[in-house]
Amino acid sequence: MPLQSTEAIVIGSLDLGEADRLITFYSLQFGKLKAVACGSRRLKSKCGRSTQLLTHCQLVFYEKKNSQLHRLRQCDIIHPYSGLWSELKKMTAGLYVAELVNRIVPEGEENDELFFLILKVLILLEQKGDPDISLRIFEIRLLSMLGYRPQIGQCIYCNQSIGHKARISFSPVKGGVICDNCLTHGKSEKITVSAGSLRFLKQALKLQLAKIGRLNLSKTLKPELKEMLHRYLMCLLERDINSFRFLEL
Ligand SMILES: [Zn+2]
Repeated sequence: MPLQSTEAIVIGSLDLGEADRLITFYSLQFGKLKAVACGSRRLKSKCGRSTQLLTHCQLVFYEKKNSQLHRLRQCDIIHPYSGLWSELKKMTAGLYVAELVNRIVPEGEENDELFFLILKVLILLEQKGDPDISLRIFEIRLLSMLGYRPQIGQCIYCNQSIGHKARISFSPVKGGVICDNCLTHGKSEKITVSAGSLRFLKQALKLQLAKIGRLNLSKTLKPELKEMLHRYLMCLLERDINSFRFLEL
């Protein structure tokens, strides 16, 4: 079995037997991967702390060819994101990021842009008080990177520009906005969002990663944007994201 090493972020953890753990990582070089950490639940285990959820680590593992389950050899902490665990709101936001990546990203597809996006959002969550803005930026950029960018400029049916309307219809099932002429098309549920929310999404997609922390979102737009992206994500995943409901706390 070849020995591999890569930077990674812990996005999932499952107890196995009495002392082992199955850890899911999002890694820089291999994308999402799973590895068994033998004995990691024992008190004296070297890998116990470094395989905690949301830890940014340097991972060394035995790669099992033709298998999705590898074996962990060593895991060293690069950054523990301990600031996320000191506040309930930050912790639940971090866990939501981990669960969303774990659920939506297929195994074994490398994407360094996504790796750096996860690191950036965890830093923003750790450093900033209000996670709402960081999570919305993360969701829209994640969706876009994976090829699920919602259509927010033109109507999904007739491709006409949505123009300058104050309130716009959005179909979570179709993943796009609908103009007034096409509102009677299709039976799928629609919600309305404001032009300000769509403007925020466009900016969040356009900005350089280093600058996304500068974006702002008004208090009135936060709930509707949260609902819009959540409904769209639920349609894509075909079920809810468990940790989403804790974001309300
Ligand atoms: Zn239309």
